Amino acid sequence: MGARLIDGKAAAADLNAALATRVAALKARHGLTPGLAAVLVGDDPASQVYVRTKGRAAGAAGLLSREMRLPADTSEEALLGIVRRLNADPAIHAILVQLPLPQGIDPAKVIDAIDPAKDVDGFHVVNAGRLAVGLPALVPCTPSGCLYLLKREVARLVGARALVLGRSNIVGKPMAQLLLAEHCTVTMAHSRTRDLAEECRRADILVAAVGRPEMVRGDWIKPGAIVIDVGINRMAMPDGKTHLVGDVAFAEAREVAAAITPVPGGIGPMTVAFLLQNTVAAACRQAGLGD
Ligand code: NDP
Repeated sequence: MGARLIDGKAAAADLNAALATRVAALKARHGLTPGLAAVLVGDDPASQVYVRTKGRAAGAAGLLSREMRLPADTSEEALLGIVRRLNADPAIHAILVQLPLPQGIDPAKVIDAIDPAKDVDGFHVVNAGRLAVGLPALVPCTPSGCLYLLKREVARLVGARALVLGRSNIVGKPMAQLLLAEHCTVTMAHSRTRDLAEECRRADILVAAVGRPEMVRGDWIKPGAIVIDVGINRMAMPDGKTHLVGDVAFAEAREVAAAITPVPGGIGPMTVAFLLQNTVAAACRQAGLGD
């Protein structure tokens, strides 16, 4: 029998609907409209889609959504100036600078300039550090979405063997921190890992975030494992169209795993849902309302 499909699209829709109710209550009771500013520099097509999707979802949930589109030749200094103005803007509680940034702009400098209280992506070293030591933090949206789905799938995370494939600051590392906080036994794998397939085969939970189309094959997966596929890889088709595939060979994995997220319709919508959750959490903290 094929693995259960973990429907991130449906889970995200439920989260977004509940959040919209909460946002309406915040407006009615406290006069608070959580505000999200998304800054896009340049014309990367995938980034344009992401920013548009995030803006639409924010608007649908009743948030104030401001999109700032800047030309590719924007200077680092000009971008830092915009971030500083957003830091000081009381209507904006959450700032997202869409990555990647054009050459010539240092993403680390830009992230560092964001007020950690408004760092909705959770990429600032203050939030990364707080997550690492177990303090309340704005946690990166993609791993938060993965953990949310995992908690619904796995009756007991405590002691489970989890393998996180990929060690980026935006997915792999925070994912490992979150799983560690749930008392999983966590292995982090990356491009220098030896016997990668064998490492994967030991995992009860496998989170793939490598950006390599269908790299994880069916025979890398432990029978009965839960597979979370973060990868979004655009593949050109012979007819000129593109279609999306994950980092896991879905059809093969489905024969072995107990449950798996599809691409698309898995982690992508959850990332957007947790962006909205983080925006509301940031707004509430800034207004002294707790979460
Ligand atoms: P990065 O490129 O920043 O990191 C990729 C990681 O994968 C690195 O740690 C790298 O190892 C590792 N890696 C690359 N090739 C191999 C290999 N052959 N064997 C083992 N490890 C390898 O990517 P991101 O973390 O930003 O994103 C990963 C994927 O997730 C992408 O497809 C991206 O599009 C997708 N994504 C999806 C999101 C969503 O909302 N669903 C959100 C964010 C990302 P090393 O460190 O050694 O170089």
